[in-house]
Amino acid sequence: MHDKWVEIDDDAILGNLAGVQSLLSDATRLIAVVKADAYGHGLVPTALLLEANGVDRFAVTFLAEALKLRQAGLKADILLLSPLVDEEAVIEAIRADLTIMVSTPQDAALTDQAGRSLQRRLKLHLKIETGLNRFGLSEEEALLVCRSLSENHFIYIEGIYTHMAHAGASDPAYTLRQFERFNQVVNRLHQEGYDIPIRHCANSTVTLRFPHMHLEAVRVGTLLSGQYPVGKMPRPIQLRDPFQFKARVIAVKHLPAGSSIGYFRTYRLKKAARIAVISAGFADGVAVAVTNPPAGWADALKRALKMLLARLRISRFIMRVYIQGQPCAVAGKVFMQFTLVELPDQLEVAVGSQASLPANKTLVSPAVMRVHCQGRGMVKAEGH
Ligand SMILES: *Cc1c(COP(=O)(O)O)cnc(C)c1O
Repeated sequence: MHDKWVEIDDDAILGNLAGVQSLLSDATRLIAVVKADAYGHGLVPTALLLEANGVDRFAVTFLAEALKLRQAGLKADILLLSPLVDEEAVIEAIRADLTIMVSTPQDAALTDQAGRSLQRRLKLHLKIETGLNRFGLSEEEALLVCRSLSENHFIYIEGIYTHMAHAGASDPAYTLRQFERFNQVVNRLHQEGYDIPIRHCANSTVTLRFPHMHLEAVRVGTLLSGQYPVGKMPRPIQLRDPFQFKARVIAVKHLPAGSSIGYFRTYRLKKAARIAVISAGFADGVAVAVTNPPAGWADALKRALKMLLARLRISRFIMRVYIQGQPCAVAGKVFMQFTLVELPDQLEVAVGSQASLPANKTLVSPAVMRVHCQGRGMVKAEGH
């Protein structure tokens, strides 16, 4: 009996996997991106599930994530999506047979050194800067790196990749330009005698919108986790969200019309009603949004409008918790570890009942247990 937990439907993940694979030709491999605790679904169980179902390449952001997968027995290739910052880290990565990314000549020098000192073969992918401006080599740097690393027989440059800044934009011009820059670097390296077998530049959005950019591999995370990325794009496959954040009703009280609910007294009952207390709140990721700066005036206005409509209690914009499949309006501000809801009149709810809450998957703490289920039966659980 837990106060709160996350249910992950493995069948939904596998359905999403089959959908993604149906988009790819035989020449294109899938690299499953399982960074950030597999987008909140639980790093180890999600990756092991995918591996057991034929996925042989993974990507994570950090060394620590990759080491966790190796410790759990994952055999497949694991590509790191961020640079390693000292030789010790590179040595650990080589020992764990990880695929290292190189995004600066300094990264290349560190890898070179570590490979020689360990006398062990290692694989790496070159990251090319084409316009996201996060990590990546310029054309000249890529050439220099290829020249210097080609003298080290322990190093195999298996892949070359880039990452798109705004593939969901209605105007594809910037993405096409990034692709062109990427190809230009690949071609230049080819002319100089460096042929790198696996080229990749497609995240979920690119995979859907630009099939000609699939190349030898795509790096997909969002689609596997059951969501279409933000923006207008074809939706050729049926996706299912495997994720449900659950908690319990731990108290129910009857209150007269006019009662105010919660801190700051922001919610008032128009009629006598029952209020249920749910055992999870914003400390668990309920009703929490990532507060990135708005992406322009339109975005800022849209956000303000949503807040306004929620304040006016326009039903589509009210936050809801589901109990026995019935929507219940959240009453007042979400507390740190509790949420209050107004129960619909006809709904019989006992203390101890389960409730499904809206939560930002990647903001639900990894400490909250992920319970993996197949359809309805529980198969295994992972908690910390
Ligand atoms: C997160 C990430 C991806 C996966 O992107 P999705 O849109 O979630 O499929 C691919 N490549 C890189 C470099 C990433 O950081």
